[in-house]
Amino acid sequence: MTAQDLVTYITWALYVVVFVVTVAQALRHPRKSTLDTALLFGAIGLISAESALARALNLPTSPRVDDLVGALLLALPYLLLRMVEDFSEVPRVVSAGAVLGLALSIVGLFASPNPRPGWLDLLLILYFVALTVYAAVAFTVEAFRSRGVTKRRMTAVAVGTGAIALVIALAGVELPLQAENPTLVMAVGVAVQVFSFISGAGYYIGFATPHWLRRAWQEPELYAFLARAAEMPRLPDTAAIVRELEHGAATSLGAWLAAIGLYDPTRGVLLYDPRHRVPAHPGVDANDQGPLVISTDDMLVGRVLREQRPLFSPDARRANPASSDMYQRLGLRALLAAPITAGHTPLGVLSAAARTTIFAEEDLSLLSLLANQAAVILESRNLIDEAAAVRAHEEANRMRDDFLSAAAHDLKTPLTSIFGQAQLLLRQAERAGEPVANAHGLQVIVDQTRRLRDLVNLLLDANRVERGSLLGARQPANLGDILQSAAGERPTSHHLIHVDVQAVLTGAFDVVRVRQMLDNLLENAEKYSPHGGDIRLTAWLDGDQAHLTVSDNGIGIAPDDLPLIFQRFQRGTNVDDRRFAGMGLGLYIASGVVREHGGRIWAESSPGQGATFHILLPLTGDPQPAVPLASLPPPVATSTDAN
Ligand code: ADP
Repeated sequence: MTAQDLVTYITWALYVVVFVVTVAQALRHPRKSTLDTALLFGAIGLISAESALARALNLPTSPRVDDLVGALLLALPYLLLRMVEDFSEVPRVVSAGAVLGLALSIVGLFASPNPRPGWLDLLLILYFVALTVYAAVAFTVEAFRSRGVTKRRMTAVAVGTGAIALVIALAGVELPLQAENPTLVMAVGVAVQVFSFISGAGYYIGFATPHWLRRAWQEPELYAFLARAAEMPRLPDTAAIVRELEHGAATSLGAWLAAIGLYDPTRGVLLYDPRHRVPAHPGVDANDQGPLVISTDDMLVGRVLREQRPLFSPDARRANPASSDMYQRLGLRALLAAPITAGHTPLGVLSAAARTTIFAEEDLSLLSLLANQAAVILESRNLIDEAAAVRAHEEANRMRDDFLSAAAHDLKTPLTSIFGQAQLLLRQAERAGEPVANAHGLQVIVDQTRRLRDLVNLLLDANRVERGSLLGARQPANLGDILQSAAGERPTSHHLIHVDVQAVLTGAFDVVRVRQMLDNLLENAEKYSPHGGDIRLTAWLDGDQAHLTVSDNGIGIAPDDLPLIFQRFQRGTNVDDRRFAGMGLGLYIASGVVREHGGRIWAESSPGQGATFHILLPLTGDPQPAVPLASLPPPVATSTDAN
């Protein structure tokens, strides 16, 4: 086998591969672009097969078969032109001229006498070369316009097409030479072989791009994208991240437009950077300021978000006629879109304009890859934002606590002496029989100072809960007795307190704090049953623990509030500050008392149905100091003047 034969066989093999790949693609996604490509390579395949068979079997030349092959050959530039139409506007006169030229050529081919007149051959070659060169130029222009992988594939196709034009042109040169100059004929023959090979290789690379080559082409852009990706979550704001992602996606895909719509679940819309704004359109917010808003019920991107599936639309205008104006203004024809989703949370949609529909299927998988990367980046950004918000919240809480604790400490001493002095003055005034106005004024001072002192004590207790140092020494005591006295010593009110102690409940307790906790629960039961009613205090033995309950028939607590009310400064959403005074510290301190005793506190309630607070207190505890807070479950409770 000569080197020339080898080149020929390799060229045929390349065309066979391209043929198989394009046919498979056409079968998988039958549409104009894939069918045109398959037809083009089908025709080339038939031509190659005929010459391979003729050569292998040494068949005599038959004019009819030659005409048939000639017709197939002449169909090639027309099919190429149809592929050009896939990504650019071909002037009508060119398309019409191509069809007419093809029809005339075929008629000329079959109707001409044998041997064909030289002028007809030349005309046919001229027709072929002119159209092929037109296609080659169109592919080249497109290669210049596109980027990334698309650019490289287009360049390969342009080279392949140019080489075909050269092959035919050289064949035309060969004709007049015929036998005149055998060396020249041979040189032209070799050149034909070389250009045939180049065309085969160009098409192979462009249309049947091997996986490794596509990866190698994508890698620089992808690496650049990934290198920037690490930094992206830390860009100043989400808009900057989105812009960077769009740029990266457009470069990696070789698309001229890539856009990310961020999903706003509360409004059910996609928000686009204002750069993508187009004039008012149904489904698009007419407001010129701020982001472009697209409803997820409209447009193809909405479908991608709803169905959570990537989508390729060869003709977005036709797929969604209602939005065709908008696509037109964006200059969009073929559209690729993939959902950006973190876990099961939809974050948005990444879409890109496809310049050509020929390469779109493969671009779609790259787009999905980029959308996944975008999801990671956007999710990281969300997490960073959330972490920053949590840190800011914690810092604000810490500053508030520090301030309150410092203020409470500083206020305690002067308040105590003001309170003492005011009480003294009041007693003296009463004894001296001073005018009522003076005595009343002093009484107001005493009452308000007491309130202030109670508040300061509450803050100091809350601080102790925080540090886990609320309890003082424990001593043996009977819980039943503490319950009875707490109920019996309540200031008279329009509530009836029922006490039911069903067992002897002795253990080691900080009696002052347990009493403080009960006082708080009883005070709450009264406060939050503004229309009066029964309050029940029950206690029984539950294993080796005392189980206490405090129930009322008051306003109750909303289910969402139940887990929160034991936290510092938390008040129920059904509680109006003007009607029910309070700071939201009572239950926090109560929970501290219970936890430091090694017990548990919780509440059961429905709004309007009253509330029941449950407390479990171990009875086995020795008279010993408190358990450190950190090792215990959730907190609660209130204080009066225990300090
Ligand atoms: P405060 O009573 O000062 O608001 P607490 O810590 O004692 O603070 O209570 C926290 C919140 O729990 C209250 O604001 C109220 O919403 C709710 N709460 C507590 N006890 C009751 C109760 N018996 N009935 C209804 N709501 C209650």
